[in-house]
Amino acid sequence: MNGTDLLVLGVILAGATVYFKFDTWKELIFSNDDDISASQGGSNDIVQMMVDNDKNYLVLYASQTGTAEDYAKRFAKELKSKFALNVLCQDVENVNLENLHDLPSNIIVSFFVSTYGEGDFPDGAAMFEQFLSSAHLPNLNFTIFGLGNYTYEFFSMASEKTLKMLLEAGATLIGNLRSGDDGKGTTEEDYLAWKEQTLEALHDYINLSEASTGFKSSFKLSFVDEISNDTYLGELTSDYLPNHNSAPSTVDAKHPYVAPITQSKELFKSVGRYCIHSQFDISNTSIKYETGDHLAIWPFNANEKVDQFLSTFALQPDKIFDLESLDATMEPPFPCPTTIEAAVKYYLEITGPVSRECLSVLSEFAPVEIKEYVIQLSKDKDAFAKEITDKQFNLADALLYLSQGKPWSQVPWECLVEALTIITPRYYSISSSSNADPNSIHVTSIVECNTNKYTDSLTLGVTTNLLRNISLNINDPQSTKIMPVQYDIMGPRNLYGGNKLPIHIRHSTFKLPADPSVPIIMIGPGTGVAPFRGFVRDRVHSVETGKCNNMGKMMLFYGCRDENDFLYQNEWPEYSSKLDENFEMIVALSRVSDKKCYVQHKLKEYGQQVMALLNQGAHVYVCGDAGRMAKDVQHTICEMISQDKGISIDDANEMIKAIKVSGRYQEDIW
Ligand code: FAD
Repeated sequence: MNGTDLLVLGVILAGATVYFKFDTWKELIFSNDDDISASQGGSNDIVQMMVDNDKNYLVLYASQTGTAEDYAKRFAKELKSKFALNVLCQDVENVNLENLHDLPSNIIVSFFVSTYGEGDFPDGAAMFEQFLSSAHLPNLNFTIFGLGNYTYEFFSMASEKTLKMLLEAGATLIGNLRSGDDGKGTTEEDYLAWKEQTLEALHDYINLSEASTGFKSSFKLSFVDEISNDTYLGELTSDYLPNHNSAPSTVDAKHPYVAPITQSKELFKSVGRYCIHSQFDISNTSIKYETGDHLAIWPFNANEKVDQFLSTFALQPDKIFDLESLDATMEPPFPCPTTIEAAVKYYLEITGPVSRECLSVLSEFAPVEIKEYVIQLSKDKDAFAKEITDKQFNLADALLYLSQGKPWSQVPWECLVEALTIITPRYYSISSSSNADPNSIHVTSIVECNTNKYTDSLTLGVTTNLLRNISLNINDPQSTKIMPVQYDIMGPRNLYGGNKLPIHIRHSTFKLPADPSVPIIMIGPGTGVAPFRGFVRDRVHSVETGKCNNMGKMMLFYGCRDENDFLYQNEWPEYSSKLDENFEMIVALSRVSDKKCYVQHKLKEYGQQVMALLNQGAHVYVCGDAGRMAKDVQHTICEMISQDKGISIDDANEMIKAIKVSGRYQEDIW
């Protein structure tokens, strides 16, 4: 037996609690010709990581905004807690993918792949895509779950590409690929359905017998007596702890910059609906953005929601705790040590829709008199939808509703930490121009504040209400009282004093053509106009600075309800006067007459002009509502092409697909 064999034996013994169809782990591993050989070394060597940490199952994720990561971790956790598998869960960005060649076939790999933009892989998964395109993986057995949005032409395309490339590499699919659809809001139920089928299919490969159904924490919880300079009170990274106290030198998704909002104003004139224009100052920083990029804003929860959550679980807000991972390959989900209040306010997502799986985890600790009912409810998709989802309850609302107001004081804090998702940044299409406004980033956000038709209360968006609170504070601090909820806008240790929020840039492919003489057609109703304000400011800047003598025509189709929600109404005439006949703005007002008029109707009305520009090679940009608008606009353009070219609708659709692939038809929809 050589050194490698000994390492393998270590894995074998550690995996003895797992009941495989093969008699023993030993038989299973040595039944393959391909031993685990941890030859490559290095901290990102998957095989080495598995050997070192006694792992026997691999979960890999390619995530853009954190959703794929969240589902991957949940799946890994369930395999671990229910079936006693030792799961390694990693971002494809952080591992040496070449090691997949060395993985023995009994180590099953579950992939979670999200799609971004026009069927693209997430930013961090470029190497993953490249690796798969030439991989040879005949020993690999895998499952795959995709995440996407059906309103995009290339729904969940990255997961489909992954599947295709893996099959071409000789790997074997276990179960089926299924994708969660964010567009229909069914990602959670799609995942649960996929999980059920996949676990069943896995039975043919490994004998998954339930080892335990109770909650087992992945962390050792300890309490700390006093707050020190190393205690996180809501800071997102150590860069902002008192002893460090200097902004991160590199700003990215892992190191946000706490930026001052220097100007903010309400754009709507209507009562009861709000849209906030905010300007983030990035002067004296290393932050660079390009017109058309996205700004990520890191929100935190409103005081009332935090209080409701704390009282629902009878938690003591001031308690300082630390989490030590019981698994060397896992890190605590947020910075520690911290206080319970800071975790609830700054790190946990507490207000969004409740997941059935979360209720299932918490059901173990439900007040005894409702426990059976809660367990049944968490298993019944339809009853859960009717009782919880349709009522737009957040977790605290739902649990208090089920227990008729009685606190759920038996839920362990570690269980909440693991059952809830981490608060993630929200993205906004930047509405400034990097050329005209290099020192500030503008965003245009509609405030999410909807009356819940079941409970008559307000269902609020976290970030947009926070931006409104800051806007009111900048313009008239007294007026913040009118907010339906209040935010602690000074932030942890007053870090956000001066109206600051953590941000980072996400680069996008939604860009003006490099050649300014190329005409462009922009379609952006509502806040979809945001990036087009940036595009127009960019071209105005080119004209003003004499950088462009041969500007292509710009047509902007904008839509809103009426004059009261006409965004940046005062600015457009100024841009028009500077760009002359090169800029034309066409406005569709949907609520000023009996006949509703939307951007697609205006596109049709201006069909001849639009087609003339398209025939000159114009680029088309669509931004805003992914629900219907983007599809209606595409359908209209498709009809126009079909008529103009005398071809069938199907052929016109194929043409649009080809134009999309070439980057001449781009969408920035959400
Ligand atoms: P969240 O807290 O995320 O809530 C989202 C929605 O769920 C809200 O409508 C909220 O009312 C509702 N909700 C909350 N709790 C529940 C519950 N328990 N049950 C059911 N529903 C609930 N938006 C813009 O305004 N302008 C832009 O320029 C813009 N650009 C974007 C660009 C990209 C690439 C993407 C992906 C999105 C963009 N968005 C934009 C949308 C933006 O990212 C946010 O999703 C939006 O502002 C809402 O964020 P929030 O934190 O306020 O709401």
